[in-house]
Amino acid sequence: MSGALCIALHDVAPATWPHCARWLDLLDALGAPPLTLLVVPNFHGRGRIDRDPAFCRAIERRLAGGDELALHGYDHRDAAPAPRGARAWWRRRVLTAGEGEFAALDEAQARERIARGLEMFAGLGWPVQGFVPPAWLTSAGARAALAASGLAYTTTHTALVALARPARIAAPCLTVSPRSAWRRAASRLWLRSAEPLTAHLPLLRLGLHPADVAHRELLTCWRALLERLLARRVALTKAQALTHFAPAHVMPASHAR
Ligand SMILES: [Zn+2]
Repeated sequence: MSGALCIALHDVAPATWPHCARWLDLLDALGAPPLTLLVVPNFHGRGRIDRDPAFCRAIERRLAGGDELALHGYDHRDAAPAPRGARAWWRRRVLTAGEGEFAALDEAQARERIARGLEMFAGLGWPVQGFVPPAWLTSAGARAALAASGLAYTTTHTALVALARPARIAAPCLTVSPRSAWRRAASRLWLRSAEPLTAHLPLLRLGLHPADVAHRELLTCWRALLERLLARRVALTKAQALTHFAPAHVMPASHAR
């Protein structure tokens, strides 16, 4: 084995569960590597996790099997006032399609949403050590709220960030965009070329999305990449990766963004 691999399934919620379940079946067939499930307490306002007993039972089975949960926003939607300026508009509306819930929140708003999510997890008795912001977008206020949250880690697109130390572990995330035909074509090319390009990295992350499974060719590319990576890297949850790589590969948190 050379290097480690963190596999995260994003946007896990009752509303996305049929697609999540297909991803989980595929991953179980590849040897059931430990996963980090990024759970959204009320994804797009389409149903709270604690009001869906079948979903809760399914998550509890995953926990019993060794998967880990991370909080992934509260509803995942960027409902803050419209972005001002071309750069903010591009970042919040085009690149991430209005999914960056924590992109423009002030600290009090971010703290309140994180607290509501953590309360829901606590009410279900679910352990949680990390927070992954939707679309990896955080405002300064959101970062301050996270630093004070008591959680162990968060992630950016390129790093696993320890919140308590604080410290940062370089760990780029491979993900794809299935939103349009040209994005899917580019994504397939990216997945086919990704392994040699990332072979030197001690820690690589994969960001899987429920929508990926709706596109057969994309899923075929993902499966081939997963098979290659799992043959040569050890799979870890994010909390396991934090324990494994810190402090050997840490740098000051100011390098994290
Ligand atoms: Zn997400």
